[in-house]
Amino acid sequence: MKTRISTEWLSGCSGCHVAMVDLHEKLLNLVEDVEFVRIPVLMDEKGYPEADVGIVEGAVRSEHDRHCLMKMRESCKKLVAFGTCAVYGGPSGIGWLYRKGVILDKIYKGTVTASRDGAMPEGAPELEQSVIPIDEAVDVDFYVPGCPPHPYYIALALKTLIGAKAPELKARTVCSACRRRMEKREGVKLQRGVSVALEEDVCLLSQGVVCLGSVTLDRCQAQCPNKGVACAGCAGPSVDLITEPHLDIRTMIARRMNLLTGIDQQEIIDYMESEAKTFYAYALSSPVIYKKPTVEMREWAGK
Ligand code: SF4
Ligand code: SF4
Repeated sequence: MKTRISTEWLSGCSGCHVAMVDLHEKLLNLVEDVEFVRIPVLMDEKGYPEADVGIVEGAVRSEHDRHCLMKMRESCKKLVAFGTCAVYGGPSGIGWLYRKGVILDKIYKGTVTASRDGAMPEGAPELEQSVIPIDEAVDVDFYVPGCPPHPYYIALALKTLIGAKAPELKARTVCSACRRRMEKREGVKLQRGVSVALEEDVCLLSQGVVCLGSVTLDRCQAQCPNKGVACAGCAGPSVDLITEPHLDIRTMIARRMNLLTGIDQQEIIDYMESEAKTFYAYALSSPVIYKKPTVEMREWAGK
């Protein structure tokens, strides 16, 4: 019997659904084993048919998101948080820094394209007080982070969910798949505002560029650093960051970069705090990050 799959997208960009479709022939290989009973990117199904597996993209930002998520949980035997927005809040999570009223005023009153009376359009869904990852609202059975998840991991997750493969938890960081070598150097300066490699083959940290590869779960095969761009952490925190409350992104990066370059740890920490919206962009609305005792996200962002 085919595994029935239902999907839904909440507050996100739909990129995770596009990534699913981007599986191309790998998706066709699965057609023998699965039946999509709901997939908004490919079919117009407004209801929530019963399914073996539910795949949810996006964070919970509005009451409508919460309603759709509840429907998915009720109609699906297993629920998957698919993509970094569903798992950690993702870029949508930046709204966690601001009060609901501030966001609405900014959008409906504070822009040149807002209507003159500042009224919200009729039928717009009510915003919740904050943005949350989906497991803050319902029980989740599987997590597939990534922004969007890499086709290799999507195929692996789908095969695991339909029982064609034993579950496999790869806990390596992006560094493990990166071809650049860490080198100890002297006289390196912190490269503020730089996110590209100045030299080939050498680790970005050794060049004074903040790269989050060592604190990020490898769900992408290190696509960015291998192409010369610093890892921005889009696949979410590494396992040690998740499990150890006292470890944090900025302190771990500062320690490693200091060992490689001698740049003062406090200088790196101050820089990362001043750019917290960038360096914490993908998981700042997750309790995994904001509940850490040393993280003061709203203070760093000047809220
Ligand atoms: S820190 Fe970045 S550049 Fe250095 S090895 Fe890790 S992923 Fe590669
Ligand atoms: S290298 Fe980092 S930013 Fe790039 S895709 Fe992987 S996790 Fe995301």
